[in-house]
Amino acid sequence: MKEDIKSLTYPALCQRFGDLGLKRFRADQVYAWLHKVGVQDFEEMTNLSKDLRSKLDEWFTIPACRIEEKYVSAVDDTVKYLFRLNDGEYVESVVMHYNYGYTICVSSQVGCKMGCTFCASTLAGFQRNLLPAEIESQVHAAQKDLGCRISHIVMMGIGEPLDNYDNLIRFIRILSDEKGQNISQRNLTVSTCGLVPRIRQLAEEDLTITLALSLHAPNDEKRKELMPIAYKYSLSEVLPACKYYFEKTGRRLTFEYSLVGGKNDSQEDARQLAGLVRGLNCHINLIPVNPIKERNFVQSDKKVIENFKNKLEKYRINVTIRREMGRDIDGACGQLRKKYSDRQENATKDSAEEK
Ligand code: SAH
Repeated sequence: MKEDIKSLTYPALCQRFGDLGLKRFRADQVYAWLHKVGVQDFEEMTNLSKDLRSKLDEWFTIPACRIEEKYVSAVDDTVKYLFRLNDGEYVESVVMHYNYGYTICVSSQVGCKMGCTFCASTLAGFQRNLLPAEIESQVHAAQKDLGCRISHIVMMGIGEPLDNYDNLIRFIRILSDEKGQNISQRNLTVSTCGLVPRIRQLAEEDLTITLALSLHAPNDEKRKELMPIAYKYSLSEVLPACKYYFEKTGRRLTFEYSLVGGKNDSQEDARQLAGLVRGLNCHINLIPVNPIKERNFVQSDKKVIENFKNKLEKYRINVTIRREMGRDIDGACGQLRKKYSDRQENATKDSAEEK
């Protein structure tokens, strides 16, 4: 079987080329084509001889993401892509335009096992992990299509990044290598539902990425109602792991808190939440829950959201309300899914109705 060349870190590519008798500068050239430019075919590597290009093509593959569909928000500049992977699976990514530049929200898995009750990405189950190359190719495909440079990356698309740990780490090292895309690790955020051993392991990797924890509840009882992972790891394990991450990396923590009307948005919830994070160097990001059609969660009233925020601020907690972007194209938090299976179901339904 051909080897996936785009998932090799720079040192691994040098080693591989050395084994094949190729010179070091060839590794530099190929690495730049793959990661700086983001080519999908060896034919495009025009500073290599035809002979070398065809040899590389014999030995290696370049996993790609091809744009199957593109949706542009009518409300803001948000763009959502449905990407088709080489094996016919699908993932989605969202590009948001902020005043400081472009941010992409990428997927880390095809589907998700975590089962958070308010999230669309988990509804159709889990198919497979994404390769480092497939995570990075989402960035390349979007950049090429939009003709822009993406400066910030959030791993908040489909999947649980820490459940695809080794590929995640390789992706981060590849992406931030100065010989490739050279995106600063400080501009990368990894969001997790809270896999405790993996958070501790991540703290040891010597990376400077931001860790975001999906907290969503001020105590274990409420958290269990929203997130099955809370049965496995209690807050008394998750929060010390986050604290450890801060101690090892010096990176301020982000806690995401989706406000669900009547479930976790009371003044008492805010008070408990403030107690929970007291003493941690953190920032809380409130996300008014985005509706998905299979569930009947409702957003908290605007006033309730404001009061929740004010209560946290009274306790001197750093807090912001996440701006909703791309809701009209189902591109907001928790709305991403492998659309294709839905469409197939709809297609079957339609044709059955026609009969
Ligand atoms: N698996 C990772 C990343 C995926 S989602 C994690 O759990 O963190 C990114 C964020 O969106 C998470 O905080 C997630 O809990 C939140 N989210 C999921 N569904 C949502 C919804 N319907 N409304 C608002 N936020 C949602």
